[in-house]
Amino acid sequence: MTTRTLKQVIKSIATSDGGGVKLLRSLGQHQHLRLDPFLMLDEFSSMNADDYIAGFPDHPHRGFESVTYMLDGHMLHRDHLENQGDLKSGAAQWMTAGRGIIHSEMPQQTSGRMRGFQLWINLPAKEKMKPAAYQDIQPEQIPIMNLLNGGTVKIIAGKTEIEDQSIAGPIQSTSTEPLFLDIRLPAGAELMLPIALGHNAFVYPYEGQLKIGLGTEKQILATHCAGLLSEGDHLAIQADDENLAVLLLTAKPLHEPIVQYGPFVMNTHEEIEQAIADYRNGRLVSQD
Ligand code: MN
Repeated sequence: MTTRTLKQVIKSIATSDGGGVKLLRSLGQHQHLRLDPFLMLDEFSSMNADDYIAGFPDHPHRGFESVTYMLDGHMLHRDHLENQGDLKSGAAQWMTAGRGIIHSEMPQQTSGRMRGFQLWINLPAKEKMKPAAYQDIQPEQIPIMNLLNGGTVKIIAGKTEIEDQSIAGPIQSTSTEPLFLDIRLPAGAELMLPIALGHNAFVYPYEGQLKIGLGTEKQILATHCAGLLSEGDHLAIQADDENLAVLLLTAKPLHEPIVQYGPFVMNTHEEIEQAIADYRNGRLVSQD
């Protein structure tokens, strides 16, 4: 057994996107701060409507997948084909942009807390131009594993085996085989879980500090920082002296060149120029 260790820390920075939504960006704040195939992780969290009310009006995407996971609040997703997804507390949307979508993501509340994440996962070259697709996942479709130490694990994507329980999430077998877990541990509690060898992995504590590793040599990762992990087939984590909430993301790396221009993520500059031209000519989303 080899236990994964903390290899690199990406401290999130405060930024804004869309119509002016305030958020914390860890992965993706610079193009060299990614973890193949993960391109970006944004956390939005505010009690103040001014920070989120402008939402994300109509904008395009091509070449990757975006996952929105809501902890609190209500957001409506709508695209150019009038596909619609209602995202409420505890729900997720797995969107495959493929060759193109033009969509909006707008808050459906004018007060109260809005909190959640958006994650971008790259697609392999052979799938970048496939038709757009959506999977809307309601809170009750996300399995919750209860741990002996009082903690919980929500499985949004992939499969995991913890304490002899094997559980699969609602999203399976996309080409990068992502595992997406939302883990909560009471103060001081520990958890050991398997991670596929050869898959890249990172953790993102969003409440409390995280300790990584075994024995007395644990490494500490502060709240709102992405912690990129070394190779290994297991991860040992522990909540520090307060309750912990942490995301764990793992996936198979693509090892392909990435050329990104805002919402377009392709393999070559020519493909980016094509995406921009297609968007201008109204052909980003056409099927012919
Ligand atoms: Mn979007």
